[in-house]
Amino acid sequence: MFRKSSQLFPGGVSSPVRAFKAVGGTPPFIEKGEGCHIWDVDKNQYIDFVLSYGPHILGHSDPDVVRAICETAEKGISFGAPTEIELRLGEMIRAAFPLMERLRFVNSGTEATMSAIRVARGFTGRSVIVKFEGAYHGHADSLLVKAGSGGATFGIPDSEGVPEGLAKETIVLPYNNPQAVQDLFKKQGDSIACVIVEPIAGNMGVVVPDEEFLREIRTQTSLHGSILIADEVMTGFRQTYGGVQILFSFEPDMTTLGKIIGGGMPIGAYGGTKEIMKQVSPEGSIYQAGTLSGNPLAMASGVATLQKLKTPALYSLLEEKSRMLAEGIKDLLKSTGIPGKVNRMGSMMTLFFSADPVFDWTSAQKCDTALFSYFFKECLKEGLYLPPSQYEAFFLSTKHDDNIIKQSLSKFQTALLKTKEWMDKGRPSSL
Ligand code: PLP
Repeated sequence: MFRKSSQLFPGGVSSPVRAFKAVGGTPPFIEKGEGCHIWDVDKNQYIDFVLSYGPHILGHSDPDVVRAICETAEKGISFGAPTEIELRLGEMIRAAFPLMERLRFVNSGTEATMSAIRVARGFTGRSVIVKFEGAYHGHADSLLVKAGSGGATFGIPDSEGVPEGLAKETIVLPYNNPQAVQDLFKKQGDSIACVIVEPIAGNMGVVVPDEEFLREIRTQTSLHGSILIADEVMTGFRQTYGGVQILFSFEPDMTTLGKIIGGGMPIGAYGGTKEIMKQVSPEGSIYQAGTLSGNPLAMASGVATLQKLKTPALYSLLEEKSRMLAEGIKDLLKSTGIPGKVNRMGSMMTLFFSADPVFDWTSAQKCDTALFSYFFKECLKEGLYLPPSQYEAFFLSTKHDDNIIKQSLSKFQTALLKTKEWMDKGRPSSL
């Protein structure tokens, strides 16, 4: 199948990380998922820590979510017209994210961040935007930019095809560095349309922000009339019923969402204060639209998912299981003598193969990615499905119970012991 796919799709896939380029080998083709398990077409079973890169916080094929999708589909798949279910999901999101006084549904996280940036530019009449090194906000041109060396420099395109002129409008700063934020705003704060930040970084692996970093971003954007966008595509409803903005008392002007709010269906949403959002078409003159935006299937899946997430103690149970897993992995690192660090916040975590703490993109890049690749393949053989890159988060679902965590730790132990053996043998390249 992969050979055939490679003749059809670039790299054989519909999204790059799935091709296993960072770890080698070829990806299993997944046939079905149930709870915390997935099965490939060769009938291998895996414990899934990818969960479609985050959305399946309730595990795969949750019966209530599946029922909601099926019942909705029977009544019609899409109308290109307002629906009641769209209103319901919108109200649930606003109740959980009170700072999203007005919001709009789109079809992906990329669309959400791309649209939020357009709104920020339109609202402020400025063009420069700021993002942080190692942060991923989707693949819109303005956001596919990484830092040049040395802090607050003009960006260079991260991808061919992004016009240099546009990349120059994106300034990239180091994550977790309040001084860099202050310095940039001192120099050119009044030209900055917005700052977009993952309030817990998940796309350089999991990196938890220092309080002072988020505080400085809020202070400087307020001082200079720039819009602060919290990109909670990954973190929305992942850490608590709502956003990290609630946990951290972080008050953005705009928020972007995706993943969990659609329960695995294609979705995104962006929103903010009334004042900002009334500039969006047709109320205002900032255009943004979508044939399938607010489509009933994604809305129904989202409503069913959020309803279940309201279960009391759900997030504290997720926290408990995640802590068990993270602490177990840390113990295994100690006992095997493999240098590694586990960064975790709630049910998202990354095992970095680095002896030093990881707190930004520069420190993340010190990881031993060859070691990760070897470990990844051993995990796959053991039946653990991890994200195929050192720089992605593992996710847990409510279906990862005590028994699954114990099973997983035993598999992690085997994979880590084999990895250590490989290290001790001088890393032979036969695998
Ligand atoms: N923003 C963040 C924080 C993300 O993690 C992602 C995807 O992983 C995106 C935006 C883009 O979302 P999508 O892949 O749905 O376009």
